[in-house]
Amino acid sequence: MPHFNSCPPQLNSLTSDTRKSNPHPAVPENSTKRKVKQKLRFEALGLSDRRLKILDSVGYEKPTPIQAGLIPLVLEGMDLIGQARTGTGKTAAFGIPIVEMLEAEKKQNANGDGGGQKGSRHPKAIILVPTRELCLQVTQEIQRLSGAEVEEPGDDPQESNDKNSARNSKKQKNKAHSDSVKSVAIYGGKSIRWQINRLRDGADIVVGTPGRVIDHLQRATLQVDNIQFVVLDEADRMLDIGFRPDIERIFRMLPEERQSLLLSATLPPPILEIAKRFMFQPKLINFSAQSVAADTIDQFYFTVREDQKDKLLIDLLDRESPSQAIVFCRTRLGTQRLYRKLLKTEKYQDARAIHGDMTQPNRDKVMASFRKGTTRILVATDVVGRGIDVSHVSHIINFDIPELSDDYVHRVGRTGRMGREGVAYSLVTPLQRSSLQQIEKRINKELILDTLEGYETADVKVRKPARGKSKRYRRGL
Ligand code: AMP
Repeated sequence: MPHFNSCPPQLNSLTSDTRKSNPHPAVPENSTKRKVKQKLRFEALGLSDRRLKILDSVGYEKPTPIQAGLIPLVLEGMDLIGQARTGTGKTAAFGIPIVEMLEAEKKQNANGDGGGQKGSRHPKAIILVPTRELCLQVTQEIQRLSGAEVEEPGDDPQESNDKNSARNSKKQKNKAHSDSVKSVAIYGGKSIRWQINRLRDGADIVVGTPGRVIDHLQRATLQVDNIQFVVLDEADRMLDIGFRPDIERIFRMLPEERQSLLLSATLPPPILEIAKRFMFQPKLINFSAQSVAADTIDQFYFTVREDQKDKLLIDLLDRESPSQAIVFCRTRLGTQRLYRKLLKTEKYQDARAIHGDMTQPNRDKVMASFRKGTTRILVATDVVGRGIDVSHVSHIINFDIPELSDDYVHRVGRTGRMGREGVAYSLVTPLQRSSLQQIEKRINKELILDTLEGYETADVKVRKPARGKSKRYRRGL
C-alpha cells in the first residue's frame, strides 16, 4: 500500500491518533506502550540497558519534554511531526529511538534471526539537515548516543592527503564498538572520496545535507533501498534555503515501507504539503513554547545610526564582557568586514568569523574552537543561525537585525540553551523600525530599549520603551 497521498489534507487531521503497526519487530510492542509522559525518567521509556548506560555516561539524567513525548511514539513506529526549536534536545528525541531499533535489529541479524537480508550493509536511516555545521553536530550526537567513536572534523582527510584517507578510515572502523550502529556525515565541502569509503564500509545511519545526498545517489555510492527511517530535521530551514526539490526527489527514491519523522520550529503550509505527500498519517506534536523566544533570554535593542554601529558594538562588548558571544551580520562581506575591525582592537583580537565564503575545513575549525570555548567572540552570518548547539553562549548580538523574523528567533535560540540564561541585543537603525515591529509580533513580546552613553537614541518604535524596563535601562547604563 503506498504511503504517499494517504495523509488527510487538514492540519487537524495530522493530529489524529491513527497508528501504524510496528514495522520494527526487533522492538517488542508492549515495551513501548506504557504511559510514560509524566514519568520523566529514561528508564520509563522502554530503552535497553545498554542505552541507559550510554545516556548515563553522556550525562543525560532525564529526558527533556520532547524526548519524553517523542521517544515512545517513535518506538511504536508512528510517523511524527514534532514542532520544536533547537536547544530542546530534539536530536536525541529522534536519535535515541532510531539507534535503539537499529541496534536491536543488528543484534538479531548477528544471531542469525534476521533472514540474512540482502544489501544489509546499505543504510537503514537517513537524516536530512539544512547546513554542514548541523550535519556534523547531529552525526556526533548520534555517534555519542550509539556508543560509537565520535567523528572530528579533522577525520576527513581532505585537509591532509589521500594516503591518510585510507588510514583514517581504517582507524575509524577499528575504534567503533562492535554493537554500535555506524553513522556517517555526508555534506558538501568535504572529500567525497572519504565519504564514499565510509559508505562502502557500511553505514547504518546517514546524516546528510540534501545537495550532497543527491550527489551520492547520482553516483550510486549511496543506496537507499534499505531505508527504514527518514528524518527531516529543521524542515522549515531546509525549505527556506531552497532544498524542497532535492527533498522531494530523495523522498521519491525511498522505500514506501518506512517511518518518517519531521522536526521543524515552524509549520508553514509547504511543510504540511510535504507531510501530506510523503508521510503516513503523521501525528503532530507541538513542543514549541507559547512564546517562541525562550523565557530565559532577556531581549534588548539599541537604536543607533548606521555609522555608529561598529563603535557601539565594541562599547557593548566592553560593558557586557560576554563569556561567549555570537555577533550576527546579514552578509558575508559585512561579517568579514566586522571581523577585521575587531581584529584591529586590542581586546577582541581573538574574535573569529564564520560565513559561507570560507572553506568547509576552515568553518569546521572555527566551530570546533568556538565549541571548546577557545574562541569567545564569533562574528557570523545566519550559517550558524539555526540548529547549532554551543551550550555556553551568553550573548547574541544582532549587529544587523535580520530581515526575516524567523531568523531572529533562531539566532536568539543560540543562547539560553537547555534552560541556561542568555541575553540578546539587536542594533536597530531608524530605517529598520518595521523589521523590529515584525520581530516583536512574531515573538509576541516587546524588546526592551537599552542605551549606552554617547549614543543618540532615535525612537524607532514611535512609542515609549516597553513595559518592565530592563535593569540596565533603569541603571541608566
Ligand atoms: P538539540 O536540541 O538536539 O540541539 O540539543 C541541545 C543540547 O542538549 C545538546 O548539547 C545535547 O547534547 C543536550 N541534551 C539533549 N538531551 C539532553 C538531556 N536529556 N539531558 C541533558 N542534555 C541533553
